[in-house]
Amino acid sequence: MFKKIHKWFSYDMGIDLGTASTLVYVAGRGIVINEPSVVAVNQKTGQVVAVGAKAKQMIGRTPGHITAVRPLVDGVISDFEVTEEMMSYLLNKAQSGKHTLFGPRVVVGVPSGITNVEIRAVRDAAKGAGAREVHVVEEPMATAIGINLPVRDPVGTMVVDIGGGTSDIAVISLGGVVQSRNLRVAGDHLNQDIISYVRSEFKVLIGEKTAESLKIAIGSLVIADKPLEASIKGRDLVSGLPREVVVTDADIREALSSSIDTIVESVKEVLEITPPEVLADVMNRGIYLSGGGALIRGMSDVLHEHTLIPIHVADDPLTSVVRGTGIILEDLEKYLEVLIENENELPPAT
Ligand code: ADP
Ligand code: MG
Repeated sequence: MFKKIHKWFSYDMGIDLGTASTLVYVAGRGIVINEPSVVAVNQKTGQVVAVGAKAKQMIGRTPGHITAVRPLVDGVISDFEVTEEMMSYLLNKAQSGKHTLFGPRVVVGVPSGITNVEIRAVRDAAKGAGAREVHVVEEPMATAIGINLPVRDPVGTMVVDIGGGTSDIAVISLGGVVQSRNLRVAGDHLNQDIISYVRSEFKVLIGEKTAESLKIAIGSLVIADKPLEASIKGRDLVSGLPREVVVTDADIREALSSSIDTIVESVKEVLEITPPEVLADVMNRGIYLSGGGALIRGMSDVLHEHTLIPIHVADDPLTSVVRGTGIILEDLEKYLEVLIENENELPPAT
């Protein structure tokens, strides 16, 4: 009875607190928010000026006293207060500003390997933002649930989620993460690789947005049937003046090769420490790729070549985590075992 009434008066939500974007799923409605994880702060007053898409537009264009921060980029929560502000803005927006009687129940996805202190920070931020109940799930688990893999069965499943700030590699069985690795080599790092490459090869300085659009438009880890190229504008390092250069897929492949090797090596390392029975399942069932990095052309070919395991790219890989949190939310009892609920075991906050 309470459950039913509660459904009418509250907007329960699943949140993917990603380093690049934050997505919010509202029970019964689907994904209602998909915004960059960026907050613009006025350093003079400490006030939040803008959140999400609006704040992202300000990056690199702000007057001295306003800074655009990506609160999650250098760690799970590198800036606690700003994260709380961002969550509270998003919770409000997801509830369309309506005042609800109970405050939402929230399921938040966090990177694997997160420390207890960081989990507490996430819980506190969500509570501070108005959540009544906060449940935490590791992102690889949420991704696997989002792509309908049988995470609660006694069968091994491997997911590789390549996001903006971090890549998460995890093997799951019986509702738990058996092995995992979280590395700081992901989409942002690839953008930096492209910036460095263009600087050293063409003596031209480009910004992060240009690098990202090159990666998406012409990046390919395998030789494309038709060569891809794009012309971009940057600052000539010698003359200081604008200059246009033509960059090809071969350039991007070269620029990304070392970081891609690092990701592939980490996948192999996780496979090496996976127990034999679980490994056999993974070999049979394949590795599932998600996150924005799953969309890099040739990513699955490269992983297959180095692991000899079938690779599946998730449908709509940018939303699998939040869809997973949504599935959990709609049936919390069923998924209790996959949640991190060890609040009592947490060390005292410092
Ligand atoms: P997070 O979960 O950390 O917020 P996402 O899973 O949303 O990250 O992925 C964001 C990253 O994916 C960014 O670095 C972005 O440049 C990259 N990305 C998005 N689409 C593509 C694409 N089509 N090709 C290559 N990279 C992409
Ligand atoms: Mg993510």
